[in-house]
Amino acid sequence: MSKYIGPVCKLCRREGEKLFLKGARCLSPKCAFERRGFAPGMHGKDAQFRRQRVSDYTRQLREKQKARRVYGVLEAQFRRYYSEALKKRGMTGLNLLQTLESRLDNVVYRLGYAESRGMARVLVTHGHFNVNGRRTDVPSMVVRPGDVVEVREGSRPRTYFTSLAETAEGRLVPSWLERDLGRLSGKMVKRPERHEMSDIRLNEQLIVEFYSR
Ligand code: SF4
Repeated sequence: MSKYIGPVCKLCRREGEKLFLKGARCLSPKCAFERRGFAPGMHGKDAQFRRQRVSDYTRQLREKQKARRVYGVLEAQFRRYYSEALKKRGMTGLNLLQTLESRLDNVVYRLGYAESRGMARVLVTHGHFNVNGRRTDVPSMVVRPGDVVEVREGSRPRTYFTSLAETAEGRLVPSWLERDLGRLSGKMVKRPERHEMSDIRLNEQLIVEFYSR
């Protein structure tokens, strides 16, 4: 279970857009992309003034990298998700997005119990959540319709969790999840459809094209 541990804001600058990987900081003037909205590296600043022809391959690659970075998934695992999505019935791109959205760390983030997917991952890894009553510390676990995710009883007295209900209240929950702030829990009612993931600015078709070459 490895993860990217390099500088996070560089990823946004590399992709040329805000990926919102750092929670509240992303909405503040401290956001690195707001201050230096050009690619990292020695020639990053010059590159934005250069007219470059972007090949199909580059567009496909960048879309795949962006998806990996948004969900915090390394290449090998991302490829596995793609292979599984390919075997399932229906559209491969949608299957892939549904799997990514169903990851436990993403569900915790979507329920508003963490500011970012990265933070959700840390909370899950530290064992603060139960899935269907069982302690689970695997952020990549795929949550299924009917599964209930909740903050563990033993974690509730911790400072972070005592004010969590108030903090999470202002966060919108997607229609495929049901949240119970009183119990600090949430239930997946169904798998998300594409229109219920409209905030994800990804073109999944390009990712499918990348792996189909
Ligand atoms: Fe990206 Fe957030 Fe860093 Fe801004 S603060 S560059 S949106 S991770």
